[in-house]
This record gives sequence, structure tokens and C-alpha cells, in this order.
Amino acid sequence: MTAARALARIADKLQANERLDDSDGIFMLTEAPLTDLGRFAVEVRNCKSPADEVTFVIDSNPNYTNICVTDCAFCAFYRKPGHAEGYTLTVEEVMEKVGNAARDGATTVLLQGGHNPEIPLQFYIDLVTESLRRYPEVTPHFFTASEIHTMAKASDLTTREVLEKLRAAGQYSLPGGGAEILSDRVRMKVAAKKGGVDTWIQVHREAHELGMKSTATMMYGHIEEPEDIVEHWNHIRELQDLHHGFTAFVPWSYKRGNTPMQKYVEESGRKPAGAAQYLRILAASRLFLDNFDHVQATWFSEGKKTGVVALNFGADDFGGTLFEENVHLATGHDNKTTVEETKLLIEEAGFVPVQRTTLYERLRRFETAQPAV
Ligand code: SF4
Repeated sequence: MTAARALARIADKLQANERLDDSDGIFMLTEAPLTDLGRFAVEVRNCKSPADEVTFVIDSNPNYTNICVTDCAFCAFYRKPGHAEGYTLTVEEVMEKVGNAARDGATTVLLQGGHNPEIPLQFYIDLVTESLRRYPEVTPHFFTASEIHTMAKASDLTTREVLEKLRAAGQYSLPGGGAEILSDRVRMKVAAKKGGVDTWIQVHREAHELGMKSTATMMYGHIEEPEDIVEHWNHIRELQDLHHGFTAFVPWSYKRGNTPMQKYVEESGRKPAGAAQYLRILAASRLFLDNFDHVQATWFSEGKKTGVVALNFGADDFGGTLFEENVHLATGHDNKTTVEETKLLIEEAGFVPVQRTTLYERLRRFETAQPAV
């Protein structure tokens, strides 16, 4: 099939509200003209969210431990048990961070950490309970799927039982980190100890069955091929069909600095993922993931300029302010913003900034740059 025919086929399917298939996915990731993809993605985005608005959340992304036994090849953040730079915070120390975020206006705290088998389940439950008791205005968006597996192993419970305990403590939202690329071929190379695709999918499926919401992430730009990305999309699209439990799709690129995999990818001749690849993946994701309401422009990983451009490639959300972020920082990738700058960047892109909650409920529309609530 010629490129023109393949593009026309996608346009026809979008017009007819027909689902894109694997061959459409591969074409979008490899050959489709980027400007056409962006145009299609904006049309789809505007059917799902107000065309003139871009949402954002005031949040922070602290960590409770950097001790980890999982040795992911792309991670510069963790330290092995016994390492001099390893730390595990107390509940009080984590609450100090949640309190700082709350005082800065945060309505979400995305809390995650390494896989430290020494931490008892009660620690995690206490984090949720204490956070909600002291800072009810902050939604605990705590613990990725692989941390839930770590808790299950440490407490001899199933992941569903762990989720039930967190749910009973008041948690109803999970971050989507740790998905990397949902292809066993890739995961077994970059995060073998995290387990295969099913380990991530299982936790999100169970969370959705319990009425919890979560995000779906994807970290690309390392050893994956276009087929792996299409497989990733298929896994999360299928799960979304069951419960509509994902609030948003959040893609970002692998950052090489200080990671065990850096030398391998450099020697393999692969170039670091750039802005054009990010915009292509973002737009194609918007089109393939037809049952996702929201797609985030990940300024924190791709840079603010690319984040702004992404708002014209199918993203309807600018993500969070991330007052604290340590995982990307460990790779040497330092990106900071403020509420005021976030609003200005959204306005610069030609949209009205709208503050939202963790679950994408609208809090405030800023007609002009004003102080945040
Ligand atoms: S990505 Fe998470 S699980 Fe993997 S090594 Fe880093 S801290 Fe551990």
C-alpha cells in the first residue's frame, strides 16, 4: 500500500469512528507525514475536550525510598540495599513533603519509591491514612504497579488484597509508572525483575475492578521497535475497554544519563529520542488509543518548548507542576516549573489554562494569568 493510501485509510477510519489496527499503528510510527498525524490528532482531541482549553494539575512527585532490588537497566535513581547513599524516609518525613506540597497549593502528590523488601505493608497504609488525615485537600496518587507487587511479596498477600487495603485506607488513584514498554521482549531486557507484561496489567486491572483509577504511561526511546509500541497500545486499549479505568496516557522518552543501559544503547548506535519522535508518538497514541479521554504533554521529560508544541499534536493536558522530582533528575535531566509559568506556557500555545484534579475534574479556568487557588 502506498503512503498516500495508508494515510487515506486512517482518515477514513477516523471519519467513521472505526478503530485503528496494527498496520495503521506501524505506519503512523514509521512513515506517516508528521503534520497530517498532528492534524488528525487535534481533530480527535477536540471531540473529547474543549478545543480552547488545556488542563494542568498542581502536584509534587517525592519519593519515600531509593533502595531497590530490581536493577532496571534504565534507572539512575536507585541504590542497592546497604549502599551509603540509600535512604528510606519515615512516615513523618514523607508527611513533611506532602505538607510542603499542600502549602504550595498541590491537590495531587504522586508518591513512589524503589522496591525495598524491608518495608512492611503497614508503612504504606500509614502513608495513605496520614496523608488524608492531615492534608485532605491532597489526593494520594501513590505507588506504581511494581510497588504493589513488592508490598504483596513482603506481606504474603495477593496484589488484589494489597489494593483492597489501600482502597480501604482511602486511596483511589494509582500512577502508571513502571509500564516501560508493555512487550515481554523489551521488559525482559530492560526490567527483567519487574516481570512480564501481565504483572503491570494485572495490578491496573484489579485496581480498576475495585473502582480505582490510574494512568497509563510508556517509556520509549531505548531498545523497542515500532511493533513493541503497537503491542503496548493494544494492551492498554484492551484493558481500557473493560473498565475505562485509565484517566490518561502519559508517554515519555528514556533519558540515558548515569543509567546502566547508557553504554549499551550508545554503542548500538541508537540516537536519543528527539522532539520529532515524541510528537509522532504523541499524535499516533491519541489516534490509536481511541478510548482514552486525555493525553498528557510531558514537558518535564521532553522540555517546555516541546511540551508546548505537543499541545498542537493531540495532547489536551500539560501534566503537573512537579514541585519535587528526583527520578529524571538522577539522569541529569533537570526541569522545573511553577504554577505561573505553567499557565503562561499554556497561554503561549494559544489555550486557556484550566486547573484540574487528579481525576481530571475541572477546578478553575484562568481567563488570564492569575494566582492559582
Ligand atoms: S525504576 Fe524503580 S524498580 Fe526499577 S530500579 Fe529504579 S527504582 Fe527500582
